[in-house]
Amino acid sequence: MAAAVAELCVTLPRALLDPCRLDLPPGDADGVLPVQLKLAAGQVQQIRPAPQAVGAPLALTPLVDAHVHLDKCFSWTAHPNRSGSMPGALAANRLEAEQRSLELVLERGERALDQAWRYGLRALRSHVDSGGAAAEASWEALLALQHRWRDRVELQLVALVPVAHWSTPEGVALARRVAASGGLLGGVLGPPFSTSRSDPQQLRALLALAGELGIGLDLHVDEGGSSAGRGISLLLDQLDQLKPGSLSVPITCSHSSSQKLLPERAQRQLADRLAGHSVAVVALPSTNFWLLGRRHGLTSPLRPVAPLRVLQQAGVAVALGGDNVQDPWFPGGDFDPLELLRLAVPLLHLAPWSRQGLMPFTSVPARLLGLPWDGVVREGCPADLVVLAASSWAELLARSPQRRVMRAGAWLPPAPGQQVDPRLASLGAWS
Ligand SMILES: [Zn+2]
Repeated sequence: MAAAVAELCVTLPRALLDPCRLDLPPGDADGVLPVQLKLAAGQVQQIRPAPQAVGAPLALTPLVDAHVHLDKCFSWTAHPNRSGSMPGALAANRLEAEQRSLELVLERGERALDQAWRYGLRALRSHVDSGGAAAEASWEALLALQHRWRDRVELQLVALVPVAHWSTPEGVALARRVAASGGLLGGVLGPPFSTSRSDPQQLRALLALAGELGIGLDLHVDEGGSSAGRGISLLLDQLDQLKPGSLSVPITCSHSSSQKLLPERAQRQLADRLAGHSVAVVALPSTNFWLLGRRHGLTSPLRPVAPLRVLQQAGVAVALGGDNVQDPWFPGGDFDPLELLRLAVPLLHLAPWSRQGLMPFTSVPARLLGLPWDGVVREGCPADLVVLAASSWAELLARSPQRRVMRAGAWLPPAPGQQVDPRLASLGAWS
């Protein structure tokens, strides 16, 4: 067990410092403030301003990833989708799923959680393919990992099946098992949409089932470049028909990508309706930018991704997720929240020096996952920090910084990539 740290001087974003501490000054132009933290018994005991400590390392609190897929991660090498197309990803995913086993999911999930923990994540929500032969083994493996990692990384699980499945007796039985294990109901609501009335009926049945079991919903909605915003509209139409207050389970729309293809006025109307029903959105830029917007070998100027600023301005809770990590849907990713933040800055115009640029990685996903701590540093909060080898946001954006992650006042072992890779070390000494 590593020795506990008693005092630490770091530069924290003011947005991650107790808003009730009016004696602490506002942040500088970059929204940050050097502070001296006194730590004891795994908690922050005291926070004092440290105006002389300009240049102290930039620090965040451990981050939260609201959307991943642990059952299929790290499968790209064996099941690549070099076309980068949605149909190609689906076909490779089907082949990979045929070979998925308890052992494979255990191995992938263990590696993912270990990396996530060392990189500075404290909670993940993972969707789990829950139809087909591998479903039962995947749930068994991920529930075992959820238990094994419960004091280090909180893992939430969402059952991912076609929405129609929840209207079948098998779907209802699965929903009861998911509810008993503390999970959520998921599904896919995206193009191609049926022209019959089946989609609204199936959605109604799913909402009723979630309400009856009292468990949350997290749907893959509008992950595509056509039928802009149709899935969101279908869901909102069903929510409009419910008696006010009759459904109190949390609802999340993951992706919501094609909403951005609508004219701005229509985007804002959907955003207002989402806010009105307290539906949250998880934006997933890496998979969206990789798979969507391909046009006959060219890149469309329209890149479907959740219209984050429009949603935030309407008051929708928006979090970010890494989504696919080295699987047929996206070859990159590594469960590193700082890499996701660095990617989101140019892709989504998210500026980490603003509250709205930082909250989608910290407090908003913490709220979506129902975590007991919102990630804001207050006296008495966990002594949990991600301390960076960077003194400014510009340094963080210039290169992926080395970091040390503290949990309960003690430093964790280093993250992957923090030492010289043996493949490079073996090339000989530096001159
Ligand atoms: Zn996903």
